[in-house]
Amino acid sequence: MDIFKRFDVEKDTQKANNLEVKEKVKCLIIGSGPAGYTAAIYASRANLNPVLYTGLEMGGQLTTTTDVDNYPGYPHGISGSKMMEDFRKQAERFGADIRFGIATSVDFSGKIHKVTFDDNKIIEADAVIIATGATAKYLGLESETKYAGMGVSACATCDGFFYKGKDVAVVGGGDTAAEEATYLAGLCRKVYLIVRRNELRASKVMQNKVFKSGNIEVLWEHQTVDLFGNDGVEGATLIKKKGTTHEEIVKIKIDGFFLAIGHTPNSIVFKEYIETDKVGYIRTIPGTSKTNVEGVFAAGDVQDPHYRQAVTAAGSGCMAAIDAERYLSELK
Ligand code: NDP
Repeated sequence: MDIFKRFDVEKDTQKANNLEVKEKVKCLIIGSGPAGYTAAIYASRANLNPVLYTGLEMGGQLTTTTDVDNYPGYPHGISGSKMMEDFRKQAERFGADIRFGIATSVDFSGKIHKVTFDDNKIIEADAVIIATGATAKYLGLESETKYAGMGVSACATCDGFFYKGKDVAVVGGGDTAAEEATYLAGLCRKVYLIVRRNELRASKVMQNKVFKSGNIEVLWEHQTVDLFGNDGVEGATLIKKKGTTHEEIVKIKIDGFFLAIGHTPNSIVFKEYIETDKVGYIRTIPGTSKTNVEGVFAAGDVQDPHYRQAVTAAGSGCMAAIDAERYLSELK
């Protein structure tokens, strides 16, 4: 590397390490899914001049789904990406300041909350709304990526409708898998439930629903190793355990492959200050968006292990903005 280039690199590194870039805002929103944008719409209209940082995946999980048919107000459905673009534009119309950046550390020890973005910009805020969402877990197969949006989905409620009358598979053995398999059984011809052990983790009530359904076949002790198909998913290759030493390769024909092996709430950066459950979902005071830290609120999937819908996330974003507004008015 020549000396000038090295100088540039050193300057960039210094800049990156320089945490002196500070800004003070009234209301900071972290996350750009339905919860974050809805909070931004309400907070802007309440004159809180919110600054919203989008995170890495601008628009959140909905941008990875195909059409959204269950959000009220869109009688003909809408693509997830378009819907999130509309949310963003609506927030901007009322003056929300939307920026790209990732929260890399926080300090919620004082009355003024500090959040560092991209390791080099500190935002000080009187109120913070955490709306960082959750990330569905995938098996890690190359074919999952290849068929993303072409037969692979992590949300049966969002995408199940497209598989009406077809054969699908759900992977997982927890409540989500049981719930999604039961939901899909009402729409599809056949549902395979692929379970890696010889028992379900799901609650007894949910298990009974699975066992009572006439068109769910549970494939016990099966693991998915590949998906195949020309224009999208046409089948899956599984390995069935036989005793402790033997394995058998099984191929099933399916049009849709649904992951239901859990979600990871994006709360890790806050965990030193914000109380979560054992999975990492932020705990809020029931009926509110308040966390254990005064002036810090949580909305959307990062605090919701149960519903995880765009419409419920948007509703909780609205609650968070109203809670933040009340908190700020009492601060004065
Ligand atoms: P869970 O963590 O409860 O279950 C995940 C399931 O996926 C487990 O059966 C697990 O298998 C399986 N799994 C994990 N990794 C893999 C893998 N690599 N390959 C194959 N299988 C895998 O997640 P859920 O999303 O089901 O539930 C999360 C929480 O939300 C739970 O507390 C649940 O009770 C709750 N919930 C409640 C609902 C309700 O009350 N209506 C609805 C949905 C969720 P294994 O069992 O072998 O570990």
